[in-house]
Amino acid sequence: MENEMTLAGILHRKDRLPTLPGIAMRILQAVQKEEPDLEEIAEILSTDPPLSAEVLKIINSSLYSLPTKITSVFHAVKLLGIGTVKNLALSFSLIKSYRTDETTGLNYTLFWKNSLIGAVSARLLSEKIQPQLAEDAFFMGLLHDIGILTLSRCMPKQYSLVIREMEKTGHAYHETETQILGFNHMAVGEYLVKSWGLPETFYMPIGCHHDPEKLDTDHPYVETLSNILHLAALYIDHFNHPDQSLRLGLFERYAQTYDLADKLNIDEIGLQINAQTQHIFPLFEIDLREEKDYSAMLEAARQELIDLSADFVNKLIDQKHEIETLREQVTRDSMTQLHNYQRFHELLRQEIYRASRYKTPLALILTDIDYFKAINDNLGHLAGDYAIKAVANGLKKVLRESDHVARYGGEEFAIILPETTLPNAIRVAERIKETMNSLEIVFENSPIALTMSFGVASLPPDGQLSGEELIQRADCVLYQAKARGRNQCCVFNGNSSRA
Ligand code: GH3
Ligand code: MG
Ligand code: MG
Repeated sequence: MENEMTLAGILHRKDRLPTLPGIAMRILQAVQKEEPDLEEIAEILSTDPPLSAEVLKIINSSLYSLPTKITSVFHAVKLLGIGTVKNLALSFSLIKSYRTDETTGLNYTLFWKNSLIGAVSARLLSEKIQPQLAEDAFFMGLLHDIGILTLSRCMPKQYSLVIREMEKTGHAYHETETQILGFNHMAVGEYLVKSWGLPETFYMPIGCHHDPEKLDTDHPYVETLSNILHLAALYIDHFNHPDQSLRLGLFERYAQTYDLADKLNIDEIGLQINAQTQHIFPLFEIDLREEKDYSAMLEAARQELIDLSADFVNKLIDQKHEIETLREQVTRDSMTQLHNYQRFHELLRQEIYRASRYKTPLALILTDIDYFKAINDNLGHLAGDYAIKAVANGLKKVLRESDHVARYGGEEFAIILPETTLPNAIRVAERIKETMNSLEIVFENSPIALTMSFGVASLPPDGQLSGEELIQRADCVLYQAKARGRNQCCVFNGNSSRA
């Protein structure tokens, strides 16, 4: 490997040296802690709203096929795990930072395409070989050719010679670089990544990804990652020149050398890599249409994927099931098991959409326990909690399956009544009111009597009302019910309201 001093000398243009974006650095530090803190990571990400928006966009894309839209970074981290969110954030911030460069002949789109193929294939290979390294493998795969980017930025003139020569001969980057410059992008990448303070598990494999024999380590993880990265680099070659079976032959030969041949089914891996990159490229705004053959190849892979073994499909279904269970956990209020505030808003949006599309009625009831503070004050907070749970259970019993009941705030509940007219919604509210009046709640031998106030509103016949406006209407009449003495229903009727 090159002497660092020499490289440092060559890479004197510090202003052109790629840097790991600050936010990426902070995320990396946070995840390297012994017990990474979900909230901290979500918080760091939230300091960069455009980046958070991009991460949420990917998470809500078909790549993860989540059943509902995730709107907060915290939920994203909770649902998909720190590793995934970290990778998306790091990849995004890097790719966005180094998209174009006016001075060199380097094709940046192709560069990031190859880097993403490297990332995806390193992760997939790692999943087969040593799953706990998969996230590291992804990031390392993404970074592995960063030396190319560095050279093209720091010595644009000389590097354009390299690119021209490569176009002429069809030789590989590292060979041509060594021939013209006397050193190559592996050494530069290693130097750079090391200078970012990343551990040797990253920079050592990067330093020899075309030349694994040069690796000098006792660290088993470094060795495994190095093998993975070498195979990934061979796969990128194959991906770019699928017509040259020689390159795939190399992959298979090395898989044998590394004693991995029985774990790696090259056809299966190839299909998976193609399928994943097809999803990932558009998300990073890398345009697949640029190269026709390439997208035709991916299309063929997609077709084949449909026929993929039942085993693989089952695995996907399992994952989906897991995500659904997790989703349940983040959309339910933990005390009452009712829908939580956020989920309520989603459901309201969906139901309003459905009502206006199919021209069906829709009503909303907001209800709040009267003088609840007195229960807390007289009997204690635990008694208050107990009463809230009793009310929640009472609501579940009175309402239909198709109604959605949510805990809207501390002692306030929201009920969406699909396909329900205003007169019928008033009947429902009256029925709940009576149920609550006669509800028998006993906490540690103390009976708790309570009443509730109700605000009822519905979508106008033309359906033209936003969720926010509907809530506002129900809230406004709930306030009236309170003002008029509580334990009653008020109804929003046009601009006026009645008890
Ligand atoms: P009003 O009839 O006007 O609704 O009077 P209120 O006392 O019910 O309303 P207020 O908003 O003044 O007080 C609500 C109280 O509910 C204040 C808050 O401490 C309490 N609270 C909110 N969430 C919980 C909870 O989860 N458990 C308990 N025990 N109390 C809660
Ligand atoms: Mg390379
Ligand atoms: Mg209250």
